[in-house]
Amino acid sequence: MANIMLLPENVRHSLIAWRKELNAMGIRSTVTSTLRSSAKQKKLYSLYQQGLTKYPVAPPGRSLHESGRAVDMVVRPPNALPLAAQVGSRYGFKWAGSKDTVHFSYVFPVQGVFKAVRKVFRSPKIPKPRVIASKEFGWQAGKRYTRQFIDVPPHCK
Ligand SMILES: [Zn+2]
Repeated sequence: MANIMLLPENVRHSLIAWRKELNAMGIRSTVTSTLRSSAKQKKLYSLYQQGLTKYPVAPPGRSLHESGRAVDMVVRPPNALPLAAQVGSRYGFKWAGSKDTVHFSYVFPVQGVFKAVRKVFRSPKIPKPRVIASKEFGWQAGKRYTRQFIDVPPHCK
């Protein structure tokens, strides 16, 4: 489980509310990636260039994960994914689609439904990038946890 505390407050609150609703629907979700520091993205990208990662990685500066505005989340059962994505859109998350099924970008809520969220979003309190626990790294690098995430489709950027 990736550390959702590293996400900006609005993203985190939206994510929690979304997952709560999924849970109530009997849909299970596991967050596998949240915020990545530039250093981490650089490291991952370097591994990717060497062919050492299990999944593709965006170049440093090109990933929404670096600003905490994207999460990777595994949904079970897998056939609930379109429904989960539909629910997620109400919480500001845009699914990357079938080619990148774990990736959800946080897009600003359009319809003013989340006034509180917008308020928080405007505040300058964005957490500094930090080095994230090695779990996700292991998962990204494909060295560990491969059994655990064997049914995870090709990863996003
Ligand atoms: Zn992603």
